[in-house]
Amino acid sequence: MRWLVTAGPTYEPIDPVRFIGNFSSGKMGYALAEALVARGAKVTLVSGPTCLPVPAGVDVVSVVTAREMLRACRAALSGVRGLIMAAAVADFRPKTVARRKIKKGAAGPAWHLELIPNPDILEELAARKKPGQVFVGFSLETHDGPRHALEKLRRKKLDAIVLNHPYEQGGIGADENEVTVIYPDGARYFIGCRPKKAVARAIVAEVWRRFNFE
Ligand code: C5P
Repeated sequence: MRWLVTAGPTYEPIDPVRFIGNFSSGKMGYALAEALVARGAKVTLVSGPTCLPVPAGVDVVSVVTAREMLRACRAALSGVRGLIMAAAVADFRPKTVARRKIKKGAAGPAWHLELIPNPDILEELAARKKPGQVFVGFSLETHDGPRHALEKLRRKKLDAIVLNHPYEQGGIGADENEVTVIYPDGARYFIGCRPKKAVARAIVAEVWRRFNFE
C-alpha cells in the first residue's frame, strides 16, 4: 500500500534572497516515512526544505512553498491508502514577491509586509478524499491543545489528529516529542516523551491498530 507523507517547513519568498519560514526540522515527517516503510508501505514524501537524509525506500518530492506542496500532494494523492500531514505549512505568504532584492531603508523607518493566506492543503485534499483513505493531520498549539486539535480534526475532516504537547518539551525542531492521537469520536491514545523515530513507530502502530491494516 502507498502512503503520502509531508514534512518540514514551507518557505514563502519575499524577494530573491529572503523568505518567511518556521522552525520545523522535518524530523517527525521523515521518521513517519521510515516507520511506514518498515511496515511494508511504499511512501511518497513531499518535503519542504530540510537538511535530513532521505530514508531508504522513500520517494521524495522536494518543494519550497505551500502552493508547491499542495500541487505535489494533489499529484501524489490518487491511489494512496493514507496521508500523514506532518509538514508545518506557512499559513501566510507575502502578497507580492519582489523581483529584485528589497534595499534596506527603501521603505522608510518601518517595513510593512502585506501577507495573504495560503491554501489549507488538508482542507483542499479532503474534498478529493476517496472512501477508505485515511487522513491524519498534526496539531501544534501553545495553549488549549486538545480543544483546538479536535476543532481542527472536524474542520479538516480528518480520521485522526496528532497533538504535539507540551509545547515547551520537544515538538518543533526538537529530537524528542510527546503526542496524543485524537479520533473524531473523542478517543485518545497518548504516546509519552521519546525520540521522534520511536514516536513515529508508535503513531504508525496505533493507526494500523485503529484502522485494521495488516
Ligand atoms: O491549522 P493548523 O495549521 O494548526 O493545522 C495543522 C495541520 O494542518 C497539519 O497537519 C498541517 O500540516 C496542516 N496544514 C495544511 N495546510 C496549511 C496549514 C496547515 O495542510 N495551510
